[in-house]
Amino acid sequence: MKYIFVTGGVVSSLGKGLAAASLGTLLEQRGLKVVLQKFDPYLNVDPGTMNPFQHGEVYVLDDGAETDLDLGHYERFTSGVLTRSNSTSSGQVYETVLARERRGDYLGNTVQVIPHVTDEIKARLRSLSKEQPCDILITEIGGTTGDIEGLPFLEAIRQFVLEVGPRNVVIMHVTLVPFIKAAGELKTKPSQQSIAKLREIGLHPQVLVCRTEHPIEEDVRNKLSMFCNVPLEAVIEARDVDSSIYEMPLMLQREGLDNTICDLLSLDVPPADMTEWNRFVERVIHPKKRVKIAVVGKYIELQDAYKSIYESLTHAAAANDCGIDLVRVDAETLEDNPPNSVLKGVAGVLVPGGFGERGVEGKINATRFARENNLPFLGLCLGMQVATIEFARNVCGLEGANSAEFDPQAPHRVIHLLQEQKGVTDKGASMRLGTWPTMIKEGTCAHKVYGTSEIRERHRHRYEFNLSYREQMEVKGFVISGTSPDGSLVELIELKNHPYFVACQFHPEFQSKPNHPHPLFTGFIQACLGKF
Ligand code: GLN
Repeated sequence: MKYIFVTGGVVSSLGKGLAAASLGTLLEQRGLKVVLQKFDPYLNVDPGTMNPFQHGEVYVLDDGAETDLDLGHYERFTSGVLTRSNSTSSGQVYETVLARERRGDYLGNTVQVIPHVTDEIKARLRSLSKEQPCDILITEIGGTTGDIEGLPFLEAIRQFVLEVGPRNVVIMHVTLVPFIKAAGELKTKPSQQSIAKLREIGLHPQVLVCRTEHPIEEDVRNKLSMFCNVPLEAVIEARDVDSSIYEMPLMLQREGLDNTICDLLSLDVPPADMTEWNRFVERVIHPKKRVKIAVVGKYIELQDAYKSIYESLTHAAAANDCGIDLVRVDAETLEDNPPNSVLKGVAGVLVPGGFGERGVEGKINATRFARENNLPFLGLCLGMQVATIEFARNVCGLEGANSAEFDPQAPHRVIHLLQEQKGVTDKGASMRLGTWPTMIKEGTCAHKVYGTSEIRERHRHRYEFNLSYREQMEVKGFVISGTSPDGSLVELIELKNHPYFVACQFHPEFQSKPNHPHPLFTGFIQACLGKF
């Protein structure tokens, strides 16, 4: 088994996760079995308790692990289905070590970063290799070289390289090669310094992926090669791509990244077959038509907060040979303004998930606008709860209807706390999480898009539809189209007499892939194109 470690230098947000995932795509297309994992140096046990402003989207895995959004890239760019073992934070490592200390496993010893914390990191690497056997394990280390909290991970990797032998490991460093306007040239010094920092720790990157706004000419390549101590062919240009992140594997392939890596690891495998991927990228970059979709959320200014949703829209649009003109609407702006001033001209409305009261009334107004104007609507998690509140208030006349999350004293709590959540006080990893089955009612819109009666989708919520309102809502045209197998939890709703008004309690966005768009998104885009 071979190992690739991906580190980052100079600044954060260099797209290390995308680079790791793209390498995964290329190696997988060369016929290798690839597994990706992330090491996150922060002390939170998982990102589930972090605000999207701090962290971006929380990506949920099949087994209910709440993880970094990079795991979303890994799942979208490769065929892998990841588990909680593919995501390790310092918090988890310390939690394990400290529990062990309390049990007395280290009795008599001083517990230290080296060897106890580094041993635990290595143990996690080894147990993942056993749990998910593969040809290549790609490990991305979060943060930037030089961060204090990343040091134990880098030290563990240094030891690990010694143990498995340098020929079985590649360290790939993703760095920034900035263009300085005043000098009119690309600068290599930041990269030199971040490589020097790694060398100080005892790590010797063999591949340099250089994020740059401008082409890296030969003289700069030579300089990077010489001062960063990597062969010339291992200096890989990764130019900013405006058109689509899915171009990244193709770009890295053109730069010879996968060839270089296979050479370094003595892997004799055929070239990557990127035909299908290429076709997908072509459809994304050169769509035959465009469609305007509004996403009404509260983290709209933050590119990363609804990452998987935006990607899912891209996948579904590409499958329909169309491109998306995204209208990002801050839900709060719809609280006082009439929605038609903002939503006029959009082909469909999507309301994503969320927590807390801020922006909810704006989302309700947007949902009402979609319902009343026969605009295709897709509600995800909180989006379904909002659609329920809106229908209860404005169609069933249940004045003051709300979710117990926002108004615990509301006269009609059409959304209330899940039974299993009563008495839960801890906030970490305590929601209804992960994949659960849903049974779909025949003859519904959901049944039409899925083409099956049983589905499995990923969840992350505390509240649910209050079934005591079922009858009075159903008589008015509200359809419960999917429930948990025992019928106790509402998972999918839709409306009669509407071209496409579908909402779900789960998160379909975590299961969409470039060439396998999610049916709910595909149906939504088709409806927006008037083809459903
Ligand atoms: N806040 C809602 C709940 O906990 C919705 C959660 C979500 O959208 N992920 O049920």
